[in-house]
Amino acid sequence: MHNIYVDGGTKRQREIANKVISFCIKRLMPRARSIFVDCHLTKSMTDLGGCWLLDNNRSFGIELNTVSKTKEFIISLIHEMVHAKQYYTGELIEVLTKNKKGAIVNKIIWQGKDCTNIKYDNLPYELEAYHMQDNLYKEYKKYDKSNTI
Ligand SMILES: [Zn+2]
Repeated sequence: MHNIYVDGGTKRQREIANKVISFCIKRLMPRARSIFVDCHLTKSMTDLGGCWLLDNNRSFGIELNTVSKTKEFIISLIHEMVHAKQYYTGELIEVLTKNKKGAIVNKIIWQGKDCTNIKYDNLPYELEAYHMQDNLYKEYKKYDKSNTI
């Protein structure tokens, strides 16, 4: 059983978000049994969205900007769910570590490679998410047609 919680936004946006998240879990984490997603829809963020780990690699927090049109809203949610998949598989991990000066810093590791100093446009996990989001959107549209509530 997966647990999906969506709050904020309009009723319609919450319904869409629930469907998109269910689709992405089935499609991207087909063998997972208990995924937990806590998704917050908000107008008051500057980015399109964000995804982070909660207690373990099966539970995710997502924040999503609601100012975009429905298509962009769905695509940015799919994008964040690709990041959830990356955390789930362990391809993407974040570790707290000390730098040379002894300060605690957050390191982002993608497939064993430290990505902390790579520019956003070149981050391999972002490239994967951008690469996958459009095809997944097309698949989602088909899925949505055959699974109307
Ligand atoms: Zn991203």
